[in-house]
Amino acid sequence: MRLKEVTDSSNTDRDAILADLCSMILSGQRRDPDYYGMVAAAVIDPQGRVVKAVNHVAKDSDRRIHAERAAINAYESRYGDLPQGCAVVTTLSPCSEHMDDRYGESCQQLLDDAGITDIYCGYQDPTQDSGYTVTKNKKLEELCKRIADTFLDDQQLNELMFMGMSPCTKDCSGHREGYEWSARHNNAHAASWSDSFNRGAAIKAAGY
Ligand SMILES: [Zn+2]
Repeated sequence: MRLKEVTDSSNTDRDAILADLCSMILSGQRRDPDYYGMVAAAVIDPQGRVVKAVNHVAKDSDRRIHAERAAINAYESRYGDLPQGCAVVTTLSPCSEHMDDRYGESCQQLLDDAGITDIYCGYQDPTQDSGYTVTKNKKLEELCKRIADTFLDDQQLNELMFMGMSPCTKDCSGHREGYEWSARHNNAHAASWSDSFNRGAAIKAAGY
């Protein structure tokens, strides 16, 4: 059974939407934790119609439809083409990095191509350079962060070694990006939602 994706137009309060998105993630985890993921997003159109969706597995594929794409797909199947002037609310800032298990381009690219510049996040990946608007509600932000942190545990299961030091996912891309990010930031430690990214940065920070 699918999670409810469309809500009535009465409430476009973004923190209320974020809270709903968090509860959709938790329902998805109760219903089918392999199918549903740990990020949810909503499209708000200029008429105030809100369509929400949770990250989920793509049809006939083992790749994942990220939440932003899922919300746009759900909007378009309900209301047709995305009009100009839509906003997106998401529990985690849109991804920008390469990911083997993601269906399609990064969410940042997807939103860019869709002309969506109004992006409101529950939690921003602290390693991203682009500044998104983040909720000022600290409890919501903490909840979104905790959900994002959980989502990363899965990525650690299927691991090889990065530079012989740290376990990583198939192509080590998370580690490599963390390592390169640290190199660009005075060998800083990272505190992102991605453990492999953080470990890559830690390796650089340790002087390797
Ligand atoms: Zn994404």
